[in-house]
Amino acid sequence: MNLKEKFNEVKEHISEVNKLNEAISLVYWDMRTSMPSKAGETRSDVISYLSGEVFKKTTSDKVLGFIESLNVNKEKMNTLELRMLEELEKDYNETKKIPEDRYVAYISATNKAEIAWEKAKENNDYEGFKDNLKEIINFQKEFIEYWGYEENKYDTLLDKYESGLTVKKLDKVFSELRDGIIEILKNIKSSNKKINREFLNGHFDTNKQKELSLEILKSIGFDLNAGVLDESVHPFTINISKNDVRLTTNYHEDEFTSALYSTIHEGGHGIYEQNIGDDLKDTGLQAAISMAIHESQSRFYENIIGRSKEFCSYLLPLAKKYFKDFDSVNLEEFYEAINYVEPSLIRTEADELTYSLHIIIRYEIEKELINGDISVDDLPELWNKKYREYLGVEASNYSEGILQDVHWSGGMFGYFPSYALGNIYGAQMYYKLLEEKPEVMNEVAKGYFNTVKVWLNEKVHKNGKLYTPNELIKNITGEELNAKYFIKYLKEKYYEVYNVK
Ligand code: ZN
Repeated sequence: MNLKEKFNEVKEHISEVNKLNEAISLVYWDMRTSMPSKAGETRSDVISYLSGEVFKKTTSDKVLGFIESLNVNKEKMNTLELRMLEELEKDYNETKKIPEDRYVAYISATNKAEIAWEKAKENNDYEGFKDNLKEIINFQKEFIEYWGYEENKYDTLLDKYESGLTVKKLDKVFSELRDGIIEILKNIKSSNKKINREFLNGHFDTNKQKELSLEILKSIGFDLNAGVLDESVHPFTINISKNDVRLTTNYHEDEFTSALYSTIHEGGHGIYEQNIGDDLKDTGLQAAISMAIHESQSRFYENIIGRSKEFCSYLLPLAKKYFKDFDSVNLEEFYEAINYVEPSLIRTEADELTYSLHIIIRYEIEKELINGDISVDDLPELWNKKYREYLGVEASNYSEGILQDVHWSGGMFGYFPSYALGNIYGAQMYYKLLEEKPEVMNEVAKGYFNTVKVWLNEKVHKNGKLYTPNELIKNITGEELNAKYFIKYLKEKYYEVYNVK
């Protein structure tokens, strides 16, 4: 069999896995949006069964056969084929290296931990969750041994979500970012500027909010013929396929910005998914590169575009059209209110400036937990110490502190950095965009978003997984991941908003 025939076989295999995954996504979507509560138990069984089939397929002897026969033909393969092999191998190794009984035990432990976490959070009861957390961390440590590591054990977990990222690299980037943000915060505080944001709270009819959200989603370039906007308690995006991308948002009747900016955020994720190249179909590369690059797109739309003064000058007349509350508000007041900064306890409610500090705290803690430098018993104290030091706030209970996020109960160690990396990548891209398309923000002010979209389509979206995150950011900007541009962006923006001289 020649190489071309072999790759056709691989594509056929990937196509089968994709079909299963499409079914899983659709079932999952229904579970999160409209399933009646009694259907919960059998529905999880359906998802487990189908996921098991995917697991079997991706770790089958057939796949091992592909990997072995392709590996001896590497010198004849093009870039795309080499990347296909790399992904095939990565997926295979990630699951195959874990003994099946340990994997099953782990899944059961995370299911139990998620239930325990929910209860513990509700009852402000860290003791009730501690042992579950300990168990999950032990699983992580055990799996790291199977997967292997070089310098730092935590590298292996980082690599799962951001291929090639290491503690050594991230320590440098995050400590620069942490110090940068803390300095900006200090200067903002001493400027004593008061910002009024009262007019963002009031009564905003949810049907009108929905209309506005859809209007903006359409304007920024989300294709509503290949996607939908629905509602859920926690907004999210799921791609059933690139022509069926589903977003949710959450409307609050007393709040103007929450649903709107969730919609723009999820819209950024959605635009990414909808524009991955058709030429990558069934190669295993027709997917987003990493969670951090995904977050770079959602945050680009939400913050860099969506909270810019230019976007505000497009948004304010629209807000006035839908709600009379804004009749007497001018652009300057509106822009400042949208960009109000206040260090707070809850990550998901944090403003653009302080958000990354919440992430850095989690990163620093995870790293120590995985390397065994701290114990689960010391966590709440360490958590509070870091919040005091970096953000100047302290939780009076566990629910608003150590228990606020679901991630650890699901075993998602190494995932949190993605959110802050998204901010960093996004700013690197932004300055490149300004250099290549100097008129772009004037266009945004007029409600014309096509230049932004086409640029991101070309530089990021269409490439799918063809490059690693590191290669991608170097292709776009000529530089590797670094915090310089994000700090520059934050300074330029917030020193203006807060009159810092
Ligand atoms: Zn997101």
